[in-house]
Amino acid sequence: MKAYSSELIRRLESIVKPDYVIYDRAGMGVYELDASDESIAGVHTPDVVVLPETAEQIAAIVRVANDLSVPVIVRGAGTGLAGGTITTRGGILLVTARMNHILEVNETDRYAVVEPGVINLDLTAALLGRGYYYAPDPASQKTCTIGGNIANNSGGPHCLKYGVTGNHILGLEVVLADGEMAWFGGASSEMPGFDLTGVMVGGEGTLGIVTRAMVRISRRPEASGVLLAAFPSIDSASRAVSATIAAGIIPASMELMDHLTITAIEVSAQAGYPKDAAAVLLIELDGLIQTVAEHKQIVAEICDEYGATEVRVAQSKAEEDALWLGRKSAFGAMGRLAPNYHLTDTVVPRTKLPLALERVAEVAVEYNLKIANVFHAGDGNLHPLILFDRNEPGAMERVLEASEVLMQYCIDLGGAVSGEHGIGIEKQEALPLMFTDLDLEAMAKLKRSFDPENQLNPGKVFPTSFDPYQRLDSPEKVALHVD
Ligand SMILES: Cc1cc2nc3c(=O)[nH]c(=O)nc-3n(C[C@H](O)[C@H](O)[C@H](O)COP(=O)(O)OP(=O)(O)OC[C@H]3O[C@@H](n4cnc5c(N)ncnc54)[C@H](O)[C@@H]3O)c2cc1C
Repeated sequence: MKAYSSELIRRLESIVKPDYVIYDRAGMGVYELDASDESIAGVHTPDVVVLPETAEQIAAIVRVANDLSVPVIVRGAGTGLAGGTITTRGGILLVTARMNHILEVNETDRYAVVEPGVINLDLTAALLGRGYYYAPDPASQKTCTIGGNIANNSGGPHCLKYGVTGNHILGLEVVLADGEMAWFGGASSEMPGFDLTGVMVGGEGTLGIVTRAMVRISRRPEASGVLLAAFPSIDSASRAVSATIAAGIIPASMELMDHLTITAIEVSAQAGYPKDAAAVLLIELDGLIQTVAEHKQIVAEICDEYGATEVRVAQSKAEEDALWLGRKSAFGAMGRLAPNYHLTDTVVPRTKLPLALERVAEVAVEYNLKIANVFHAGDGNLHPLILFDRNEPGAMERVLEASEVLMQYCIDLGGAVSGEHGIGIEKQEALPLMFTDLDLEAMAKLKRSFDPENQLNPGKVFPTSFDPYQRLDSPEKVALHVD
């Protein structure tokens, strides 16, 4: 136990009931990992886990952490794939699971106010009866929290038409690094001053702790429909994606799964996908009854034109749910194909998808790896899942090299190192692939101004070779960089 620990525990237990302050090794075991790749993030035990119930408790915890110079790392549901919740430097792991209340629903002004630990799908479930829903829907929505979604600016299948989390956050209550509380944004369409809500969205818990969120709620569309189209090649499927959007139709979602993924899904979830297809597109359309009917027809024709061997239109809600179940169980199904997988979340402009997927196939051959593809095709957001066995000597190195080659290629196509999962630990070393030291320094200035003592989720996002607290402001450094 570290020297500060007994005082830390005593002070935390004076803020939160002792039942919610966990510091025995067995109790903390479940918080050592999140959904990220353990081979990269490693296993790290926090000094203490605390489950507060209110924003005021969080503020008090942060003030204690300041007094004792202890890092504070926030955790929602731990479904993050970038290692954002891993306590690499120890510290207080602050879990928001008990802050799971929907505080207000305002249908007239179309917003809800929620605590950060509300599960994404629970919010939609609470709104459906009133004719509303919460649009951003990560495939992990049965488990992940609104706080985690905000911190990672998460996407999801329906973000093609409706935008990612950031497009649905109106205001935030935040506990800052000094333990003070602030409110940014609000229900009005225009807010004066700097857009600090925007700064917090995607902040990965490094700039402030979200304790309350005002989120946009959306009216349920009058109708929706789901189609499954099977293709003889991944290339023809991805060309059908661009053609659909070029035809002026923005489906609610367009998800692409390749043959390997279909095989894994059919073994584990039996969603009824055609087992011999090289790729399937799962397409959801929504809107007015007549528009959905017309668009179904047009999209089916486009799929035919691009060589679809089958286009199936779900005839009931049960059939739609079965098709979606396949997609939503895809990551979990990978266990049927290999003991481990490494997910490279990257993004390219949609029209570059065929090129990017071609490169994925080449890299699989070059590195002698199996790579499955399941992704938000409409957004150009790729998720090559590189399958491997961690126990095979050299496998991890090969996987990481292949992943970096793919990221670099996507950047060269005008894309980015992450499409939606955030940077955390997993992508921190990849940031220099797309940002210069001067770009990183601009981000470091923001980090230093919100968190001058580096207490909030330290060691994340910035590459390990770039210390955000060592100022890059001397003329020689700038000149060197420019050279
Ligand atoms: C099967 C599966 C499918 C997935 N599908 C998608 C998908 O379709 N789209 C997508 O974008 N992601 C997806 N993800 C990734 C993940 O679910 C999202 O990143 C999600 O938003 C994380 O939420 P969480 O509550 O689990 O956050 P956590 O993993 O607990 O935390 C994530 C980050 O948020 C920070 N954080 C959490 N709460 C707060 C808070 N209150 N204030 C400040 N910072 C906070 C943490 O410190 C950490 O940096 C998927 C993951 C899995 C396992």
